[in-house]
Amino acid sequence: MSTNPSLNAQETAPAPQRPRRVFRRIRVTRVRQLTPHMVRVTFTGDDLAAFAWNGPAAHIKLVFPEEGQTEPEMPTPDGPRLKGVRTYTPRRFDPAVPELDVEFVLHGVGPASNWAAQAQVGQVLIVAGPGPSYQVDPTADWLMLVGDDTAIPAISSILEALPATLKAYVLLEVSDAAEERELSSAAPVELTWIHRGSNQPDVALEQALRNFKLPAGNGRVYVGAEAGVMRRMRHYLLKDLGLDASKIITRGYWKFGDTNYTDHDYGTD
Ligand SMILES: Cc1cc2nc3c(=O)[nH]c(=O)nc-3n(C[C@H](O)[C@H](O)[C@H](O)COP(=O)(O)OP(=O)(O)OC[C@H]3O[C@@H](n4cnc5c(N)ncnc54)[C@H](O)[C@@H]3O)c2cc1C
Repeated sequence: MSTNPSLNAQETAPAPQRPRRVFRRIRVTRVRQLTPHMVRVTFTGDDLAAFAWNGPAAHIKLVFPEEGQTEPEMPTPDGPRLKGVRTYTPRRFDPAVPELDVEFVLHGVGPASNWAAQAQVGQVLIVAGPGPSYQVDPTADWLMLVGDDTAIPAISSILEALPATLKAYVLLEVSDAAEERELSSAAPVELTWIHRGSNQPDVALEQALRNFKLPAGNGRVYVGAEAGVMRRMRHYLLKDLGLDASKIITRGYWKFGDTNYTDHDYGTD
């Protein structure tokens, strides 16, 4: 042990702690099928008014009931790690009601997709968050938004946050034309839908990005997609197009073959 008293004080000082997550019990009030593979669920809850909406493309943690449970167990700091936790985007929040919308892709496997496919008024989940949001740069000339269907809620919330002066180019990959829908924005938006034909990640979105001629000027790019697809697009933007890394945000929203994929894959490895 060191004889230096100040060093000892440092060594024994408790490590800085991450702020503790607040978990809120939320109840389904509406379920709306947006497209064959996307459902919007609206939640309310006694303590949801304190949910701190912080801007577009943030993320929340949802806890789903495990087998045999009618509602999920409330996580506790010292309790076991819960299996049924997944990452979603707070699509819309109205503190006055209060109510929170979440849009779920029905991809067919997994506790979150399965729950959303049967969601009914009165059912209960637990929510934590939100995590950090996307900071729109109002001084940029244009913003390119690229995503598969899991990123449509995030990209929709970014579009709704744009000033009318910022031109947006949007490439969205969905399985087929039945998944297309209206998105709203004050900004002028050039939106292209890309059909992949199945729910396996493939090259359709990446190819569409490669075929797109990015305009000159001070642009920004946001990508949200399957982790491998996202990495290939990030490589293209940085290495082939030579974009500055500070101008692009790329996020892995899920990973082919992995369950409960991490919420902090920015492809920077
Ligand atoms: C920051 C962030 C925000 C997100 N926001 C949303 C959102 O608003 N809406 C939304 O629907 N998703 C969103 N996702 C993606 C969502 O977290 C994953 O799709 C998650 O895996 C779904 O959980 P699950 O229980 O259905 O499947 P899991 O149990 O996690 O996975 C089961 C199997 O399904 C596969 N799988 C997972 N997602 C898909 C998919 N989309 N298509 C095909 N196969 C898949 C997995 O690879 C695995 O093999 C977000 C992810 C992140 C990181």
